[in-house]
Parts: sequence; structure tokens; C-alpha cells
Amino acid sequence: MSFDNLNLIYPLQRALTEEGYTTPTPIQELSIPHLLDGRDMIGIAQTGTGKTAAFILPILQNMSASHKTVKPRSPRVLVLAPTRELAAQIGDSFATYGKYTRYKHTVVFGGVGQTPQVRALSKGVDCLVATPGRLLDLIQQGHIRLSSVEYFVLDEADRMLDMGFLNDVNKIVDMLPKKRQSLFFSATMSPEISALARKMLSNPAQVEVTPQATTVERIEQFIFFVDSDNKNELLLHLLRGKHLDCVLVFTRTKHRANKVTEMLNKNNINAGAIHGSKSQTHRTKTLQNFKSGQLRVLVATDIAARGIDIEDISHVINYDLPNIPESYVHRIGRTARAGAEGTAYSFCAADERDFLREIEKLTDMEIEVAEHNYHSEKAKNATGDAAKPAPKQQRGRTGSAGPKRGRGKKGESKGGRSSSSSSNKDSKNKGGRSENANRGQAKSTSKKNSGRNSGRGSGKPKNSQ
Ligand code: AMP
Repeated sequence: MSFDNLNLIYPLQRALTEEGYTTPTPIQELSIPHLLDGRDMIGIAQTGTGKTAAFILPILQNMSASHKTVKPRSPRVLVLAPTRELAAQIGDSFATYGKYTRYKHTVVFGGVGQTPQVRALSKGVDCLVATPGRLLDLIQQGHIRLSSVEYFVLDEADRMLDMGFLNDVNKIVDMLPKKRQSLFFSATMSPEISALARKMLSNPAQVEVTPQATTVERIEQFIFFVDSDNKNELLLHLLRGKHLDCVLVFTRTKHRANKVTEMLNKNNINAGAIHGSKSQTHRTKTLQNFKSGQLRVLVATDIAARGIDIEDISHVINYDLPNIPESYVHRIGRTARAGAEGTAYSFCAADERDFLREIEKLTDMEIEVAEHNYHSEKAKNATGDAAKPAPKQQRGRTGSAGPKRGRGKKGESKGGRSSSSSSNKDSKNKGGRSENANRGQAKSTSKKNSGRNSGRGSGKPKNSQ
């Protein structure tokens, strides 16, 4: 399958060719025909699957079928995203894929002054990408009207709910015209998420890509049993390995992200942190510095990192294991983006032993244990009630960075999910990116959403991020 088979109009084909994309990813292949037909859609897919193009391309094409001119403050397309970073990235995608169309777009999110956003809106934009809070603010002030919206996309619905945006989303949906095409994307489904999808969509096509197994299979993963007190030393030890050149470190809390960043900088390792309490200007600058290579290490919490598209991340290090097992898959997926086979190192202290069990259960995989100088048997053997910090172990001083056992065997799965293979074999193209590990398997049904429950539950706001 190539993009030629999808009957996209020339201005879109041209933009895709310039990007080097010749082969649609599974989500694109499955969604685009439904969307060009004007269907509502529910897409179960995470960032990294190519889902942004899967909705932007058909929307731009459908818009071009009518010759409407846009009115000030009245966008025809509304895309809601949970984080500023994701919103900015979607805005960039509108610029890329819509380069040869006449449509204008803008992005609005909080944490920055609203004047430039208001100015852009008053000139008239066809496509608006927004985070819920700032959108409601601007609507209240009369800078945006939703009465002309013909296409509505809710992206990362599960994260929206995790972040406590359900009320805001409901308010926004209630303001939309009844006649519209609606798209709903979520990496996971819970009863609460399907209820929201049912409210928003009418007779949706359902498209699902299941990236977990393929992502997990492609990434070399090691677990480092370590006492909490030794995590800093272990991190420094690993980072002394020169091949760890572009490293994303995850912590569970904002406070920890700050502490780890400070510690790294004190040790002459250029690091920056992004999390919910950092200003937008700071977050954008830090991301730019990381992308340009000025910062070798980016320390992030789950929410801040979600949806960020950074290529060339060589290693993901889980300084803390996530307490939601799906987050582990999202986190390590960051390192296998540009077709690369990434590496993920995870630290596990005694009080995180249960998180590891949950992760291994979800991925049907036993993560290879790294041998290293800070190894803690106590962490390794901890049971559920071992929440007390482990006593300090003797610190090693020598040895090369990285696990001593060398490269782990991929796909050492116990069966189940991770034994399924990618349906993405033929999606290589010269842009290289189409080998993205997250693309995964796909299936499409046209039935009404039945509310697949991933077991993640409805999620709680994680204010500490
Ligand atoms: P997304 O899931 O939308 O965040 O996309 C993940 C990455 O895949 C982005 O860097 C896109 O630019 C890239 N991408 C999207 N579609 C394709 C395609 N058909 N071939 C190659 N790369 C793509």
C-alpha cells in the first residue's frame, strides 16, 4: 500500500513526498478511507503510530471539497490536546501536511501570553489546535466561537481524563454544532473513556493499532535492582558511558525531576527538566536545547513527556518505575521512534518491586536483570510489603557503564501479547521514519464502540507531575 492508493489530493501528496513518506502507517491506511467518507471515528492508538497525519490529511482534504472562506474567530477544525507540547506538535503537523493548501492554523495553550493567539484568531484561522483550559478562557472572552466547527478531534482522550479535563471537554463538546465530523483518539479504553466517546461520536468506525507488543519487542530492556539511595550514583555511572548520547530520564514526581536535574548538572552532565510546574517558555526552550543536542539529558515526568516527538533518543532511563504499567510502555516507546531499536534501563528499588511485577504481567515479558556495581538483592527479592528503604550497599567504583550482560535478547517473551508481530513490514520508506516501532498491528471495525477496557481504569489526576 502506498499513499497513491488512498486517493489523496495533489497538495497533500506533494507535502508527503517532501517529507519522504511514501507508505501509510497502519493507522493511516485504516483511518483515511473512513474519514474521507465523512465517518466519525474512534482510533485506539498512541502517539508514535502516525495518528496525527491519519486525521490531518483527510480533514484537509474534506475541507477542500467546499469553498468556504473562514470567518474571524470561527475555526472550521478544532483539535483538542491535553498538553501544550502535544498541541504544538499537532500545530507543526498542520504546517507540514497543509503546506500546499490554503488553510491557516494556529495553536492556543495556557502558560504563555494570549495576545499573539488572540491576534491570530481575529485574522481568521481554519484549523485551531487547543488545550482545554485556554480554549475555554478564550471562548469566555469572546475570542473564539465554536459555531462553525465542522471537524472535531479529541486527541489522547485517556490522558485528558487523567489530567482532570473531563468537565472541560464535556463543556466544549456541548458547544459544538450537532452536525460535524468527530474523531476520538485514545491509547487505552476504560468505561469512562468509552462513555465520553459515545457522547461525542455518531456511528463511528473503529480503528485500533496495538503497539505494546511490537514496541516492547524491539527495545532492549534491562532492570537494575538498586537501593533508592544509590540511584543517583547508578545514573551517573551509566551516563559516564559515552554512547548514552541522548537520554530521556523519567521520574515519578516533579520534585524528583528537579533534584535529579540539579544533581546531573552538578556533575557536569548537561541536563534540563520538563514537568507540569515549569513555565511554557522554559519547557519549549528545554525541549529545543535537548533536540539540538545542547542538553544531553532530559528529565521528565510522564505527563510532560507524553506526546513529545523527539527522534534519536538513544536511551530511556526509568529513574523511578511508573506506578501505572501502561506508562512503562509509553515511556520506553520514546526510544524506538525513528526506526531505531532503542534501549531502556529501569531502576527498581525494593518499594517498586510490585510495579515491576505489574509491568512484566502487562508486557508478558521478563525483563533482563542487569549486573552492575550497585545491585541490591534486597530490591530484587522484595515482596509487596517491602516498602522500607533498603540499607546502603557498598558502592562500586569501577566497571564500564551499562549492564555487564551486554545486549538483551529481543522478543524473549513468555508468549501472549509480545509474540505478535508487526504488520508493518512493508512500510519502509526513504524517510526512514516509517519503520517506527510504535506503528504496530492494526485492525479496523465499523461497529459502534463497545468500550474495550484495558484494565487501566479511569485514572486519577496526577498532580505531582
Ligand atoms: P504521530 O503518531 O502522529 O506522533 O507520528 C509519529 C512520527 O511518525 C512523526 O514524526 C511523523 O512525522 C512520522 N510519520 C507519520 N506518518 C508517517 C509515514 N507515513 N511514514 C513515515 N513517518 C511518518
